[in-house]
Amino acid sequence: MNPFSVQTLLTEADVENLRFDAQARYIAGGTNLVDLMKHQIETPVSLVDLSEWEEASDIVKTGNGFRIGAMVTNSALANFAYQEPSLSMLSQALLSGATVQLRNRATTGGNLLQRTRCYYFYDTAKPCNKREPGTGCSAFTGMNRIHAIFGTSEQCIATHPSDMAVALIALNASVSVKTAEGKTRDVALREFYCMPGETPDREHVLKQGDLVTSVFIPAKTRGTQHYHKVRDRASYAFALVSVAAGLELSGETIRSVSLSFGGVGTIPWHPQKALDVLEGSDFSVSLLEKAIDAELADAKTFGSNDFKPGLLRRVFLSVMLSLAQRQKAQHGHEGALYENH
Ligand SMILES: Cc1cc2nc3c(=O)[nH]c(=O)nc-3n(C[C@H](O)[C@H](O)[C@H](O)COP(=O)(O)OP(=O)(O)OC[C@H]3O[C@@H](n4cnc5c(N)ncnc54)[C@H](O)[C@@H]3O)c2cc1C
Repeated sequence: MNPFSVQTLLTEADVENLRFDAQARYIAGGTNLVDLMKHQIETPVSLVDLSEWEEASDIVKTGNGFRIGAMVTNSALANFAYQEPSLSMLSQALLSGATVQLRNRATTGGNLLQRTRCYYFYDTAKPCNKREPGTGCSAFTGMNRIHAIFGTSEQCIATHPSDMAVALIALNASVSVKTAEGKTRDVALREFYCMPGETPDREHVLKQGDLVTSVFIPAKTRGTQHYHKVRDRASYAFALVSVAAGLELSGETIRSVSLSFGGVGTIPWHPQKALDVLEGSDFSVSLLEKAIDAELADAKTFGSNDFKPGLLRRVFLSVMLSLAQRQKAQHGHEGALYENH
């Protein structure tokens, strides 16, 4: 590891007084950044330690939603969300990630800004446009089993790894940011991440020195919810495919639907085309098929990940059908519904 200096941030107001040069990084739980530093993928010359920033460790239930401080740990947020029916997919997403030890350390801000798990990003002997722009993408012709099918470019096909972000996209969360100049701004999470395009090293809309202070989740009825993650092992593994979904039916009609996909996009994927088909329509297996077909029309595969569209289709159908079953069961219908699928 290279030598680096450390400054400590105690309150949000400290941001304006930091010496935050081009090579500086915030460090929260350190569960991703320290690994990146050890592998020499990131070599910051100075760190701003957030671990004593207590005011960012609270979750506040407001009149219109939930405000989660950037330093709330993944464990604390999972436990809180577990007790809030309108956030159950968030709890499930967090509990499906990493391990207890990591979740006790990892923070809300750090989870959003963790970097891809693409093998070639971590292998400094191989070209990677995200790590070193202009060197090429080894995943195109190499092992791309875990790679993206949505939002790819000729420069990069790495997936975004966060489970939490997938649930937060479905829940329509926004991120509050304090800039190095002391200004505050809110960014919808759906607009927070950047697809690789020609600049795969640019992963989000934050500028150098911008501090994530909190995440806001608007209160909204979202019906029954589920986060389903398919991975190589039952724990300690990133998603090959995941689906976060909420469904509210009024009779047969879809009154509200929330949806996002993980493990398939270069960013946590907001499937607008599928949602356009579903919203306000009558629920049926053929509608679900039409919706996933509309989204998958844009999918591109690269060899080892050719299985992903089929897997995503099956997980999507299975999650949506089980949500509908639960809705119907809650409203007193008897027997299995949509059993022909
Ligand atoms: C073995 C292993 C398995 C894992 N499995 C999963 C998994 O299945 N699913 C999953 O989602 N994640 C998984 N993770 C990733 C884990 O969730 C992240 O490492 C963690 O959430 C990062 O949080 P942190 O606080 O430790 O971030 P740090 O490592 O401290 O920081 C990460 C990045 O965020 C930036 N940052 C941190 N806080 C702020 C802030 N407030 N404002 C601006 N920038 C900030 C840092 O500068 C850095 O660039 C796994 C990690 C490991 C090591």
